[in-house]
Amino acid sequence: MARPILSIDLDAIATNWRALDRASASGVQTAGVIKADAYGLGLGPVAQCLASAGARRFFVATAEEGTDARAALGPGPQINVFSGHTEGDAALIRDADLTPMLNSIEQITRHFEALPNAAFGIQLDTGMNRLGLEEAEWESVAPYVLEAGPELLLSHLACADDPDHGLNEVQLANFHAMTDGTGLPRSLAATGGILLGPAYHFDLTRPGIGLYGGRPYEGAAPVVSLSLPVIQTRLVAPGEPVGYACTWVAEKPSLIATVQGGYADGFLRTLSNTALLWAGEDPCPVVGRVSMDMITVDVSHLATVPESLSLLGPMQSIDQLADTAQTISYELLTRLGPRLKRRYLESRR
Ligand SMILES: *Cc1c(COP(=O)(O)O)cnc(C)c1O
Repeated sequence: MARPILSIDLDAIATNWRALDRASASGVQTAGVIKADAYGLGLGPVAQCLASAGARRFFVATAEEGTDARAALGPGPQINVFSGHTEGDAALIRDADLTPMLNSIEQITRHFEALPNAAFGIQLDTGMNRLGLEEAEWESVAPYVLEAGPELLLSHLACADDPDHGLNEVQLANFHAMTDGTGLPRSLAATGGILLGPAYHFDLTRPGIGLYGGRPYEGAAPVVSLSLPVIQTRLVAPGEPVGYACTWVAEKPSLIATVQGGYADGFLRTLSNTALLWAGEDPCPVVGRVSMDMITVDVSHLATVPESLSLLGPMQSIDQLADTAQTISYELLTRLGPRLKRRYLESRR
């Protein structure tokens, strides 16, 4: 059975991690963000690849993801949970030795009561208004919390992918105001923050998308390629429609290839009638609507129709395809579905 194949270049992920690690001073630790199944690319293989490259600290979104990360990594590396210690997490946090990034007074209380003396970090809100203690809350509990010895003080930038955005400097100043003099390890920068320069690096950076080849890290080595097998080709006469709702009609005799893969695999319907697939270096336009399991493509101009067409690869990056789909590479990657056969490329280990 022909299945779409998603190739994931682990060497490229390791290369990107090393390059982002080198982008900060040698005293600055570089973690790896592996939430959402490592941005859809596979938590286990990606976590192990980053650990071999040298990463000693990882970030996930939830305690359940942390449990999976611990199973993949084994004892040793620190695993931090962005959502903190939510109701019912205590056993997972204890058993998998996770470090929750506590983000409210309620969470601090819950954690100290359920797991006294267990590791934790603190998440501060410096202007994004999504997660973390606000300045006044932090002031009220800081003396007591600092006494308990947090591993890390963390905040997140809302606009780091836009170096000219005024909020970056505001958040930086707020982070200094809330953490200077604590003597504790601090972290403000994800991929975008690393690229903003050393003032944003503090003690630890937390890249995610840059590891996986996406903007704003323009210099990233490409990580994923995706090829969709051709199931059938047919000649379509002028005036005949293709696909649901007849949104494309042939103007001239056309050879149409139907490829395996559709919106159930994460190829958004916004790609209908606009995206390109590639036969080597020849672009082939998507015609008609993307359906659940199939995409129809105009291959009239090809001398021979290949066995598969490329949706991601040397001719089309995750950012280019995300732009066409009117989304961002983060969403494109995390939507890549379980039906795609994941193939891991790795030469050096
Ligand atoms: C997702 C996330 C990251 C990683 O961000 P990238 O832009 O993918 O590098 C870092 N920190 C926090 C708090 C996050 O939610």
